[in-house]
Amino acid sequence: MLLAAQAASPLTAAALAAPALLSACFGLAFGSFLNVLRTRWPNAENLALPASHCRTCSHTLAWWENIPLLSFLLLRGRCRQCHARISWLYPAIEALVGLIFTLLWLQYGQPILTPGYDSPSPDFPGNFTAHSQILWLATTFLGYALFSWLLVALAALDLEHFWLPDALTLPGIALGFLFNLLRDWAATPAAQPITWLPWLYGQLLAILAPAAIVLIIRLAYWLVRRKEGMGLGDAKLMAMLGAWLGIVPAIESFVLGIFLTAAAALVLIAVGLARGQNRPWAAIPLPLGTFLAIAGILEIWTHASIIRWWLAACLFC
Ligand SMILES: [Zn+2]
Repeated sequence: MLLAAQAASPLTAAALAAPALLSACFGLAFGSFLNVLRTRWPNAENLALPASHCRTCSHTLAWWENIPLLSFLLLRGRCRQCHARISWLYPAIEALVGLIFTLLWLQYGQPILTPGYDSPSPDFPGNFTAHSQILWLATTFLGYALFSWLLVALAALDLEHFWLPDALTLPGIALGFLFNLLRDWAATPAAQPITWLPWLYGQLLAILAPAAIVLIIRLAYWLVRRKEGMGLGDAKLMAMLGAWLGIVPAIESFVLGIFLTAAAALVLIAVGLARGQNRPWAAIPLPLGTFLAIAGILEIWTHASIIRWWLAACLFC
């Protein structure tokens, strides 16, 4: 590893903890902005004005009522003025984005500061120059942070409004394409340049094939039941997952998303039965996009390993 050959400057634990803490704070702040987005955007409200306020009594929040995560704990989940309950989604989203940004920093950001690291992930190509390793790591850290933020936003909007806005999925597809272009360019040794035309075909296939799966299921569902099953938003979300993750991890996140949706349906049916309600399963509306987005975030770390384990198990049995 070339970075190992560089003059190793001993970094104290504090010097490593500071950027990790900073990543967590950035994550909390981005999670907080995501909360503004998911509460105001669906109602076509201005994102900046008026200042943050209680959604029940319109009381304008003091600065200390507006600190991500901490304020929810200080206020014990209720508005100071009218004591209305604050949704658990606020701190959950802030904590989730904070956690994801920290994990991404530890995996892809910290190796930039620590010469002689081991391979940070299975998709790390180790045989290129130190300079482009840093470009690859920085692109991966910033890119995955943006990707996961978009996915948390889509998960929240689909959960609450059954809405996967084109304004997030379509730029998401283009950004995923640029992300892989930059990463693969950084990972290409000068001696063996990439042949870009096959690369382009591969990327287009990774975008179109996962979307096509949703469209085919949608068509089949319509032919059988004459009703809309999966939405077009789900197809665009799958195209976005393909653009960022590649074809096999995107398909794995589709399978994982379906399993998560089915598990959620079973939980809802069980809760319904316990309360004496008896609704047919097909009548329960479930936000598939939420579960696809969650599966997409998991896929950043699983890298299609579930499919690989399964194939290996099939080959050896
Ligand atoms: Zn209030």
